[in-house]
Amino acid sequence: MSDCIFCKIANHEIPSTIVYEDDLVIAFDDLSPQAPVHTLVIPKAHHADITDGVPAETLAAMVHAVEEVAKAKGLESGFRVITNKGADAGQTVMHFHMHVLGGKSLGEGLV
Ligand code: 5GP
Ligand code: ZN
Repeated sequence: MSDCIFCKIANHEIPSTIVYEDDLVIAFDDLSPQAPVHTLVIPKAHHADITDGVPAETLAAMVHAVEEVAKAKGLESGFRVITNKGADAGQTVMHFHMHVLGGKSLGEGLV
């Protein structure tokens, strides 16, 4: 999608701090981190959100990328994965992404 900021990051058209990349997915640090570690995992192909026909192979690649992020960031003591879909969840970028959050105790709120 030509006007999608995450498609541009996936295509290396705009810079990001890349943590992991393979043929299907890319992981990069969030611009406005909400935890000491806040990395986004996205499919390279454009899907609006988790319900937008994401192939099983791509979902598996994203889970693998989460593992790679956890290793690269030293999240041995745990982390949280969140994906927002739609207005009630506060989704602001309409390209499917998983937030990987960690680097401190995240507590028990949400969730
Ligand atoms: P959402 O609210 O849609 O689940 O999360 C979108 C996330 O993308 C936010 O945490 C926001 O900080 C991040 N973000 C938005 N634009 C950019 C960008 O250009 N580069 C990076 N690295 N992160 C971005
Ligand atoms: Zn996109």
